[in-house]
Amino acid sequence: MQEKPFAPATGTVIPRYAGIATLMRLPYTELTDPRIHEVDIGLIGVPWDGGTTNRPGARHGPRQVRDISTMVRNINRASGINPFSLCACADLGDTPVNPIDLVDSLNRIAGFYDHVVQAGIAPLSVGGDHLVTLPIMRALAKDGPIGMVHFDAHTDTWDRYFGDCKYTHGTPFRRAIEEGLLDPKRTVQIGIRGALYSDADNDWGARQGIRIIDIDEFQTMGVENVIKEARRVVGDGQTYVSFDVDALDPVYAPGTGTPEIGGLTTLEAQHLIRGLRGLNLIGGDVVEVSPPFDASGNTALVASTLLFEILCVLADSLATRNAR
Ligand code: MN
Ligand code: MN
Repeated sequence: MQEKPFAPATGTVIPRYAGIATLMRLPYTELTDPRIHEVDIGLIGVPWDGGTTNRPGARHGPRQVRDISTMVRNINRASGINPFSLCACADLGDTPVNPIDLVDSLNRIAGFYDHVVQAGIAPLSVGGDHLVTLPIMRALAKDGPIGMVHFDAHTDTWDRYFGDCKYTHGTPFRRAIEEGLLDPKRTVQIGIRGALYSDADNDWGARQGIRIIDIDEFQTMGVENVIKEARRVVGDGQTYVSFDVDALDPVYAPGTGTPEIGGLTTLEAQHLIRGLRGLNLIGGDVVEVSPPFDASGNTALVASTLLFEILCVLADSLATRNAR
């Protein structure tokens, strides 16, 4: 029995492979729906990879994740959280994009999230390349900078590519800090590794006050201490969770544009996300799933499972705040 009007179709009545695929089998609900204000958490696809500097394909991520996310069940065995009993959840569809115009795409995406935020909905998104997090933050951080727990092999705080191009999937958090959307002192980056173009890649963010936990420090500290440190950094202010699947080792997530060996395991990622329970979470995303490079389909499965893990802590956070 479902306690909320917006809840997933159960696989015990309608087989998981049947019907039209939506994110986690949730009802597809357009922003113009008269019941939109009843939705607490909106799952959203951003089918755009115009910020990709190397191997493209993340524009196909949302559709692939929609398909495989029909595997998601209701209750998180580890935490006991049933996000669908705590919050009304819906698949709000894909944002509008313009595949041949970067700036226009950023504006269209931000415009969509403006409506989501105005409807009082917390967004949980599937990319798309990592530049999509910038327009999401433009909509979310209207009242001042937010904090972030960022899982990635890369810092994504590079300045410019190809001369004077400020907007790529390697630059979103530099722009977000410059635009006053993201508080660097309440930002923690976990899983950073791989060869650099230059030392400036790490130095700029560190100078702004970002807490960078590279993969070697992660291994030395261990999961529990990294959770403690992440919670210390973001504190009790509004916090966004951004998960680039290249934070994971390519053994688990090969289907991505910029894989780096020596990454997180899927279980470490699950434990880390579960450790965010109780923070003041306002949204999240899983980005950089690139189906053309995902021969086994496993990257989309991993992404949809991590999306569910984020949904659990997000729903718990919203329900706790609403109960106050
Ligand atoms: Mn990234
Ligand atoms: Mn990355």
